[in-house]
Amino acid sequence: MERVGKLLNGAVVQRVNLGNMSEPCVYDLHAHSFFSDGALSPADLVARAAANGVQVLALTDHDVTDGVPEARAAAQQAGIVLVPGVEISVTWPDNRSCVSGTPAIHGGRGAQTVHVVGLQIDIAHAGLQAGLARLREFREWRAEEIGRRLAKAGIPGAIEGARARAQRGLVSRTHFAQYLVAAGHAADVRSVFKKFLVHGKPGHVPGQWAGLEEAIGWIRAAGGQAVLAHPARYKITATRLRKLLGEFRDAGGAAIEVVSGSHSRDDMFRFAQLASSYGLLASSGSDFHGPHNYYMDLGPMPPLPDGCTPVWQMWDGNTPAAGCVSAQTSIIMDG
Ligand code: AMP
Ligand code: MN
Ligand code: MN
Ligand code: MN
Repeated sequence: MERVGKLLNGAVVQRVNLGNMSEPCVYDLHAHSFFSDGALSPADLVARAAANGVQVLALTDHDVTDGVPEARAAAQQAGIVLVPGVEISVTWPDNRSCVSGTPAIHGGRGAQTVHVVGLQIDIAHAGLQAGLARLREFREWRAEEIGRRLAKAGIPGAIEGARARAQRGLVSRTHFAQYLVAAGHAADVRSVFKKFLVHGKPGHVPGQWAGLEEAIGWIRAAGGQAVLAHPARYKITATRLRKLLGEFRDAGGAAIEVVSGSHSRDDMFRFAQLASSYGLLASSGSDFHGPHNYYMDLGPMPPLPDGCTPVWQMWDGNTPAAGCVSAQTSIIMDG
């Protein structure tokens, strides 16, 4: 065994030589289909992943798991492994007030949206599905509210335009952005967000998503692992980030995305360090939304930096279906 690094807590990381029996798997543990705001069907997503060399793919649509059965069947055909997943919208901190007789109000001043990916979930779990259904109900109300606010700002027809682009009924801000570009209100999706859909802009509606603990609870109850998605994307101070990571870990979160299509190299090394110091595992995913997307394509990404313990380390040893080994190259020994 080769010693390759030391974690901040003193544990020594060694690399196990697996010989030539099998190569380590290529993972992509964050991707969207048109069941949320992706462009491809689950089957086309899986085909593209396989063609790009991915051997273990997670389908992680926003607040919905309905694409998983189709993705699973396609993965079996393509000879790759499909990890059932979801990307849950969370409002953090959860300043929920529950005045007697009125529904719980999430969010409030200073709250922001963060995303928690669930991996290896049992999509049949009733508690998880009840939670996701509640989020989709809010999403539906929010879509109408975005439409009303845009109409007041002089942009009629946005809700109809967004719905027409939501291929399986779940309406996302991405669909509004696509409509607004098509209707000539902005040059591209990115500038629509800036001009219309973010805090302080006419089409912004504050989130009332799941609480952080609640989302992690649903994922764990469904047998899955909770992963804090693309942490570098949150507009957050260093102090608040530490608070978020601490709360995430204390609530039973398992991992953070260290490698992400929306992370720079610097982000990757920074979050590798943070994962180690918080005792969290590391995940890797493109956050692919479609072939013409602003992020990275599906497929091989930089390896997790040395010192990271992969979130897939605990998965069932190896993945013979994909002809690769998932039990990982790095193990942590007591220092
Ligand atoms: P929603 O969950 O409906 O609020 O939509 C969030 C989705 O919008 C994210 O998952 C991204 O796919 C997309 N999105 C968020 N911010 C931006 C941005 N600045 N530019 C382009 N797409 C974005
Ligand atoms: Mn999205
Ligand atoms: Mn996200
Ligand atoms: Mn995503």
